Amino acid sequence: MKELQQSDLAIHELIRQEEQRQADKIRLIASENYVSTPVLQASGSVLTNKYSEGYAGKRYYEGQQIIDQVENLAIERAKNLFGAEHVNVQPYSGSPANLAVYLAFLNPGDTILGMALPHGGHLTHGSPVSISGKFFDAQSYSLDRETGLLNYTTIRETALACTPKLIIAGHSAYPRIPDFKIFREIADEVGAILLVDMAHFAGLVAGGSHPSPVPYADVVTTTTHKSLRGPRGAMILCKEKHAAAIDKAVFPGIQGGPHDSTTAAIAVAMKEAATDEFKAYTAQVLKNAKMLAETLMSKGFQLVTGGTDNHLMLVDLTNKGVPGKKAAKALDAAGLVLNYNAVPFDIRKPFDPSGIRIGVCAVTSRGFTEKEMIFIGDKIDSVINDTENVALHAEIAEEVKKLCSAFPAPGLEHLF
Ligand SMILES: *Cc1c(COP(=O)(O)O)cnc(C)c1O
Repeated sequence: MKELQQSDLAIHELIRQEEQRQADKIRLIASENYVSTPVLQASGSVLTNKYSEGYAGKRYYEGQQIIDQVENLAIERAKNLFGAEHVNVQPYSGSPANLAVYLAFLNPGDTILGMALPHGGHLTHGSPVSISGKFFDAQSYSLDRETGLLNYTTIRETALACTPKLIIAGHSAYPRIPDFKIFREIADEVGAILLVDMAHFAGLVAGGSHPSPVPYADVVTTTTHKSLRGPRGAMILCKEKHAAAIDKAVFPGIQGGPHDSTTAAIAVAMKEAATDEFKAYTAQVLKNAKMLAETLMSKGFQLVTGGTDNHLMLVDLTNKGVPGKKAAKALDAAGLVLNYNAVPFDIRKPFDPSGIRIGVCAVTSRGFTEKEMIFIGDKIDSVINDTENVALHAEIAEEVKKLCSAFPAPGLEHLF
């Protein structure tokens, strides 16, 4: 980045510091990852100079000889990877992707049914502060109070009572696997469109480590930057019969020109996600999550649902007497970066809830295996048992840095 350094020292220096932070810390934010250098190169390419409103072969600007091929490659690779009939790669991110689906199927005031935000759903699934909750009659389903699991009996009852036009499955903070077949049956029973938002677990689906929602859902949305390990962006996968409605909803419905550099980087990420290496990566993600969950539970930590079947876990810190935000801040000081999170039926406020969320996608990308999960579990335990001990946190941060120095992170190889 020599040229950037010469022209804008301030931003250059901040990017350099962020690179160092990502190299030296154990990043456990469940939605984050490390993309490869090829993905970074495509993201930062001159495709950012292009405008290409429309779709391949039907653009509103000239000069699309190359861009059409880029977008078609991204689409073909995504279709093959997920076995989808139709894919739109233009949504700017996960939230606009969901908004486009609503525009394709709903009118303002229509009823939607999604997982409640405090129970692991996403803002865009009908939260009152989101456009999804303001423009639609947003109903929600909760987790089972006893088990912390999805309860299909009550989801079905809720659906029968509110007869939604669209049902949303998928989540940002649920450590288990939804039963897409039952969601399909419930949607059919009430005559609803089924949208599965696989933003968090799309990479696991691609790698064969999680059941695919694609055969069951009318529409599947996903971000491309979480477990899927691509650039910041999103895709909509759907049945051929919905293709025209989805494409029209993305452009001109809610967006103008697609971000062509992102499209190229999505194509690169889809190629990577189709490899045996990526399959092995997602299998290791599951093993790591299980090992970290077991390590924490052996130290008396309470995990929502008692464990995990995917890349993340939710820890209820109530029995440790430490609020989630305090825990997250102390852990950050110790080089373990994660987020505070509400737990189901949380009695504390969303801005200072009872739990923390832990994901292992990023650390697995840098080569951590079970052994390092035990280290992480041990250190989390030490910090949570001594949240005021600043000296201890600094000491652990040094140990973390030392461990990280042996695991070059993708995209940051030059720092190792
Ligand atoms: C992250 C996420 C999104 C939104 O993605 P952005 O790219 O942040 O807009 C949507 N749905 C779910 C379930 C998510 O976890």
